[in-house]
Amino acid sequence: MLRTVQELNDWQALSDHPALGAYLGAIHPVPGGVHGVGLGEVRGSFRLNVVGFLEHMRAQVEVRNESVERLEPQRDGSWTINGTERFDRVLLAEGYQARWTEHLWGPLGFARTWGQGLNVGLSLDPGVMLHRSHFLLPDGNGLYQLGASFGWGIEHGDQDPPEANASQAEELLNSAREWVDGSIDVQGQWTGIRPNTQDRRPRWGWHPEHPTLGMLNGLGSRGTLHAPLLAQELWS
Ligand SMILES: Cc1cc2nc3c(=O)[nH]c(=O)nc-3n(C[C@H](O)[C@H](O)[C@H](O)COP(=O)(O)OP(=O)(O)OC[C@H]3O[C@@H](n4cnc5c(N)ncnc54)[C@H](O)[C@@H]3O)c2cc1C
Repeated sequence: MLRTVQELNDWQALSDHPALGAYLGAIHPVPGGVHGVGLGEVRGSFRLNVVGFLEHMRAQVEVRNESVERLEPQRDGSWTINGTERFDRVLLAEGYQARWTEHLWGPLGFARTWGQGLNVGLSLDPGVMLHRSHFLLPDGNGLYQLGASFGWGIEHGDQDPPEANASQAEELLNSAREWVDGSIDVQGQWTGIRPNTQDRRPRWGWHPEHPTLGMLNGLGSRGTLHAPLLAQELWS
């Protein structure tokens, strides 16, 4: 979302940039009810249906909904989980909880953050994905995902994200009101914890003393984006 002529000029000037140019696409007219001078198309961007993607992947593997309470190396390099099941290799992808990963690798240097999103109805439906300081993503029938806020203060060992709170909701609504007209009707809200690290870098690899044990973590604010590439690197 380009709000000023200066931003529009910057977008056009940067389209020759050696690193950014490939991603800065055409400038499109702003839909009715949206404040701005143009919509800069980010080439190669897309929205992943995360739930659909996970359902598709889960259908191809055996899923067991049990917590890993015991993880023990065996002499032949295999591992037992919860005392019974034996596995040739184990890959830990525990997210912000990271109980076993930190036990076996040491502290990952987390600076966990949390975020809140809102499910909103817009009276003037722009009909496209919009992003500025926050995002507005269409879910159909005039409903949108508005997100996500940024909150600090997650204690090590917290199992669940904090409850949605009014000040973060207000921050999101104030942001959206700056760029969309019409009424914004909040219909639901959600929160989640980001497994951020202090240096904002992911952690992945195979254990130096246990070559059959791997981990992928620290995916922070962009895990959906980065996980496929990192998983591929880990596997190869
Ligand atoms: C508000 C918000 C907005 C975000 N927006 C974006 C975005 O726009 N784009 C993007 O790319 N990313 C985004 N992210 C980041 C993304 O959600 C995370 O980076 C990603 O979920 C991390 O994936 P993960 O698999 O490492 O961890 P998780 O998604 O946390 O998954 C870890 C899983 O391991 C399980 N687990 C942990 N310990 C055990 C155990 N002992 N036994 C069994 N199971 C265990 C957990 O229950 C969980 O299911 C956002 C995150 C938040 C909170």
